[in-house]
Amino acid sequence: MTTTTETKTKTYLNYINGEWVASESEKTGVSKNPAKKGEVVGSYQLSSTIDFDKAATAAKKAQKAWRKLAGSVRGDYLLKAASILEERIDDVAATMTKEMGKTFAEAKGETARGVAILRYYAGEGMRAVGEVIPSSDSEALMFTTRVPLGVVGVITPWNFPVAIPLWKMSPALIYGNSVIIKPASETAITCAKIIECLHDAGIPAGVVNLVTGSGSVLGPEMAAHRNIDAITFTGSNTVGKELAQIAVSRGIKYQLEMGGKNPVIVANDADLDLAVEATISGGLKSSGQKCTATSRVIVQKEIYEPFKEKLLQKVAEITVGDGMDAGTWMGPSVSEGQLNTVLSYIKKGKEEGATLLFGGNQLNENDGLNGYYVEPAVFENVTSEMILAREEIFGPVLALMKVDTIEEALETANDSEYGLSASIFTTKISHMLSFINEMDAGLVRINAESAGVELQAPFGGMKQSSSHSREQGRAAIEFYTSIKTVFIK
Ligand code: NAP
Repeated sequence: MTTTTETKTKTYLNYINGEWVASESEKTGVSKNPAKKGEVVGSYQLSSTIDFDKAATAAKKAQKAWRKLAGSVRGDYLLKAASILEERIDDVAATMTKEMGKTFAEAKGETARGVAILRYYAGEGMRAVGEVIPSSDSEALMFTTRVPLGVVGVITPWNFPVAIPLWKMSPALIYGNSVIIKPASETAITCAKIIECLHDAGIPAGVVNLVTGSGSVLGPEMAAHRNIDAITFTGSNTVGKELAQIAVSRGIKYQLEMGGKNPVIVANDADLDLAVEATISGGLKSSGQKCTATSRVIVQKEIYEPFKEKLLQKVAEITVGDGMDAGTWMGPSVSEGQLNTVLSYIKKGKEEGATLLFGGNQLNENDGLNGYYVEPAVFENVTSEMILAREEIFGPVLALMKVDTIEEALETANDSEYGLSASIFTTKISHMLSFINEMDAGLVRINAESAGVELQAPFGGMKQSSSHSREQGRAAIEFYTSIKTVFIK
């Protein structure tokens, strides 16, 4: 069965020096639909380091001319690519849903955001890149400008397969860098479809390159390659730290955006309906597979029981299924491996003494489903020492934690090695101010879910969630350029 489907699906190629080419390894990997076991979305190249070397050579050469173009001209390519992506939005979104499982509505929203990211950074090509600084010499002009880094290596995860590649590649390109992207293998085809948009927009050969295949083969090669001048990575902490070590040993710039264990605080003066809705949306959409997903739900004791009751009522209404079906609210986990990870956390949670209030079972053929599905799970009696409160699960699991005071809530929220995003539900200005001042997270949201990032604002984490740099908005200029101070006498 699988073989028949495989022969009918398309094989996607690498994109090197403006051409679609097969890997010299002659090997391909298969992208599978987690919503339907056995359904193949397509095949992608399992590239070798020889393919990567070709891409790095092309990118190095192409960057010399690309950096000399006016910013507005570079921006025109991004604008064209944005329009092409907009025309193809349904196809790209459907590919995303089939490769990684999020609902088609969410995938379409993410693709629309990709279009907006391209347009935002196209505009950056015409904005100021420096400042005039008064010199102590009255006959001199002193100012700063910004120059590109060179070739930027981009490594991305599968959970936002359009937005993350574009929020890395677009600023890299507009500031005059060339790029090589190695996307997550699960979503290699979605990435190929974005690169097709840039190709069809006429971007010069070698400026953008796509090399697909195993991260453990291509990732270290990317960080170590002599032609790579900077590396930007989003993914797990273990891999991020390995890449950073190689980058440090070569003295190149690197940027890591990694995991989260994001809390929501529900204060006793909160709008309960709003808090329940946002906790569910922030924690369970995309099956909890967002770095900013709500995971720890810290509730003041006075409203704990009514909050819990409303939450459980709403969670029970969630429809789990294929993200391409109109009635589905929550899709599958991205893969069998990810499903097993989620199930093992649910098991460990129970073993450690947390109380499972709802869900947590695998859903299968008996439930009319034939993919990697799990019911959303809600635990209570979770303490900060438990694995459910400490480790990133990347699944639809909420851990309820009861606290006495708002001070204890903040202390509990900060008791984590991660610091990506956090939210609070409260109507009191004093609680909002304490939260803004004391919460150790790169993104703090008040009366809004923890997941949710606007493309024009800086994004990144504190503590173990990031290398302390920021992506998106104007903040991206800090990573993708170097400052040059100019003195003219
Ligand atoms: P991952 O396993 O670290 O993979 C991320 C990327 O790294 C993939 O392209 C992967 O390629 C590649 N890779 C794997 N092993 C590598 C190695 N040894 N050297 C270099 N690259 C390697 O992470 P994931 O499971 O895809 O993504 C989930 C993680 O990403 C979560 O921790 C989540 O919190 C984090 N995330 C963070 C943000 C943020 O902005 N902070 C946003 C989204 C996701 P293969 O696919 O070929 O293995």
